[in-house]
Amino acid sequence: MTDARDTIVAIATAPGAGGVGIVRLSGPRARAIAREVCAGKPLRPRLARHVRFVDADGATIDDGIALHFRAPASYTGEDVVELQAHGSRAVLQLLVQRCQALGARGARPGEFSERAFLSGKLDLAQAEAVADLIAAGDATAARAARRALDGEFSRRSDAIAAELLALRVHVEAAIDFADEPLDTLGGGPLRRRLDAAIDALDALLADAERGRKLRDGLHAVIVGPPNVGKSSLLNALAGSDRAIVTDIAGTTRDLLRETIRIDGVELTLVDTAGLRESGDVIEREGMRRARAELASADLALVVLDARAPDAGRAELQAAVAGVPTPLWLLNKSDLVEDAAPAAAAGLPVSARTGAGLDQLHERLRALWQGQAADAAGGAFTARGRHVDALRRAATELLAARQALATESLDLAAEALRAGHDALGEITGRVAPDDLLGHIFSSFCIGK
Ligand code: GDP
Ligand code: ZN
Repeated sequence: MTDARDTIVAIATAPGAGGVGIVRLSGPRARAIAREVCAGKPLRPRLARHVRFVDADGATIDDGIALHFRAPASYTGEDVVELQAHGSRAVLQLLVQRCQALGARGARPGEFSERAFLSGKLDLAQAEAVADLIAAGDATAARAARRALDGEFSRRSDAIAAELLALRVHVEAAIDFADEPLDTLGGGPLRRRLDAAIDALDALLADAERGRKLRDGLHAVIVGPPNVGKSSLLNALAGSDRAIVTDIAGTTRDLLRETIRIDGVELTLVDTAGLRESGDVIEREGMRRARAELASADLALVVLDARAPDAGRAELQAAVAGVPTPLWLLNKSDLVEDAAPAAAAGLPVSARTGAGLDQLHERLRALWQGQAADAAGGAFTARGRHVDALRRAATELLAARQALATESLDLAAEALRAGHDALGEITGRVAPDDLLGHIFSSFCIGK
């Protein structure tokens, strides 16, 4: 497989000037190309060599260090050469151009990591952790990405997958003895092992959900009756004019997403159509989607009008019942004489004057820190697709348990297979090509 690959090149260091900049080559011709660039000096594996980098006509581009990592002991599993020059964008670009003239191809985003995956150096969850580590916004996220890169997530998911494989074999074998009751075929231990796998999967799912939060930030949803100032609050928090603010009740029918950063924490705000009973089909659709958003929210900002703090409260209470942290806000506090009496019912704020927004930021920060502390202990970063795969696997395992209870062995085998495949998506054992393309194209070039 390696032989069919070409040799790729890219700048591996971040854009902008720096003390040192690195151009990375990977592929079967990496060493030969590097030797040309290094004025004919041969490179020995793992030996840093001070060299002159030269152009086609022998003119010096720069001097620096060349480092050769021989396949398979390299990041990509292929022959890799790093050319470390002065960190000037112009110099690094000249080096890349020279490598291209010598037959290397400019790497696509994430192509080095993709090759590491294809060479079996990293599984898919680990390759994703590389990108997460690079993008980590703070030490907690960096440590969690590091644990995922070290394979903590992959190991736990693979252990469950291995157990499911054993259970599949057991069930498939039992299908061949369809006349016998399952209990004479080891049905008891089979059920117990499936229960244990379900428990392990639930625990992994809980950790992956925390890891997802650590990576993606909190998912906050703004809800409330029409015209209480949800869009205005979104604008005030986001500091932009993305949401359309109007005086006509129920105009924000669609969902409007806005991702903002508060103290390095990402908050996705989704403005929703007012949650209220309505005969209007479009608005009802908006409310249906609002409820769907709430189902996956970490946090809801529930907005009421400070002048009528009880209007719509009961209905909203029901709507956010499943959300871990509803934060009740009383907007338009500038329109009431004294906001203090109402404070028990929510935090008085004003999108118009900005009153209370500092306290709102403070609450959000405290909530985030609580979540981050929760996520920090032994967790790893995870992505939405991991959580999704684990949820699907969990659903299948419950179906398998149900099927075993009624001795529907074919159904049980099918559910176990589907659950096993869902887990395989995490490490890439079962990975459709378009999934791979999607994952690696979101990396930066040179990684
Ligand atoms: P939404 O339907 O809940 O999204 O409400 P909007 O954000 O569209 O606001 C409805 C109306 O209330 C607009 O005329 C806003 O200018 C006004 N409004 C929003 N927030 C405040 C506020 O804090 N104070 C006052 N006085 N008016 C506000
Ligand atoms: Zn609105």
